[in-house]
Amino acid sequence: MPTLKTRERLSEVRYEIRGELARRARELEAQGRELIKLNIGNPGAFGFRAPEHLQRAIADHIHDTDPYTHQQGLPEAREAIAAHHRGRGTPNASPERVFIGNGVSELIDISLRALLNHGDEVLLPSPDYPLWSAATILNDGRPVYYRCAAEHGFLPDPDEIEALVSPRTRALVLINPNNPAGAVYPRALLERLVAVAAKHRLLLMVDEIYDGVLYDGARFEPLAPLAGDLPCLSFGGLSKVHRACGWRVGWAMLSGDPTACGDFHHAMDLLGALRLCANVPGQFAIQAALDGTDTIGPLCAPGGRLYEARRAVIESCATSEHLQLMAPAGALYAFPGVTGAAAEGFDDHAFALEVLETEDVLIVPGSSFNVPYRNHFRVTLLPEPEQLREVFRRLERVLQRRAEA
Ligand code: PLP
Repeated sequence: MPTLKTRERLSEVRYEIRGELARRARELEAQGRELIKLNIGNPGAFGFRAPEHLQRAIADHIHDTDPYTHQQGLPEAREAIAAHHRGRGTPNASPERVFIGNGVSELIDISLRALLNHGDEVLLPSPDYPLWSAATILNDGRPVYYRCAAEHGFLPDPDEIEALVSPRTRALVLINPNNPAGAVYPRALLERLVAVAAKHRLLLMVDEIYDGVLYDGARFEPLAPLAGDLPCLSFGGLSKVHRACGWRVGWAMLSGDPTACGDFHHAMDLLGALRLCANVPGQFAIQAALDGTDTIGPLCAPGGRLYEARRAVIESCATSEHLQLMAPAGALYAFPGVTGAAAEGFDDHAFALEVLETEDVLIVPGSSFNVPYRNHFRVTLLPEPEQLREVFRRLERVLQRRAEA
């Protein structure tokens, strides 16, 4: 029998957060092993719940959720998103420029499809959230990575970014607060990045899905107000700040001078129309989510579950001879690096597999985030603090064995 052929460019696409190691983890679970799985930033899987007033908003409207909505989303939800952006100082933030999608994931794909022609380049952070690379490749673009080096707090260097601009460059993608490294970008840096985009007429695409997940006084600066008249697409959603991943609700706010945006708005609208609309029940929670109630702040403050989980990871790395960590200032992950004797000949995949097979812990190898080095790994901060301390005791055992080998 001839076998089915698949899209060739898929061979360039990786999403290891749910890849081979996750498959092996399921096999082990089927054999009865009890695993601690730290591969996915899925709050609901760790006992977090969406705030009650969001749940209520959906329940109260459940009888209104049968029809399709407009392709860009429910008008009242779009108005709430636009108002949220206007409150931040985003210029030209009107509901007509809001696109609601099945998570930010769908909107990343749609917006790159709306933008890219074959061979166009997209400036992506390294490390990145790998969907950005995958969606660039699958929409016929070419990822061009700019470094966010550990020794510079995982922050990008605007001069390095500018040196990577070519006549084919179309967009500059930022992830702030950052997944996987937890960096939160200061205003002065964002201003320099806006200047690069302005000089080279790049679309700014900023993934701000973790915009409320901040620790120790870190300050989030939204990009769109700094971008002013420049075309800018800001992504946000309910998955992380509002702990409602499963509802699949994300949005993109287009800002900047409408004339400078050309046909982009129309392209987004058309692609949105082709998939009809986003999940409707979830859209009814958007107004409630943006009503000004801060439900994530207490979790990120001392004594809060995420803060204490982060503390557990920071302290575990600080007492390890083998690990180095930049304390995450935001988001739901830590991205430690292996140093010293254990780092000799280190291979992050082999390490992650050994940790899974011998210690029943699933982590994500750092190279899954499109970095050229292989001595990092990512864990999510979502488990109970004590469980994270136990995880790091187990990781330490493996690292110690390797250091002594
Ligand atoms: N962007 C980043 C940086 C993420 O970490 C994630 C999910 O982990 C997403 C986008 C996708 O989020 P959504 O659930 O809204 O599709």
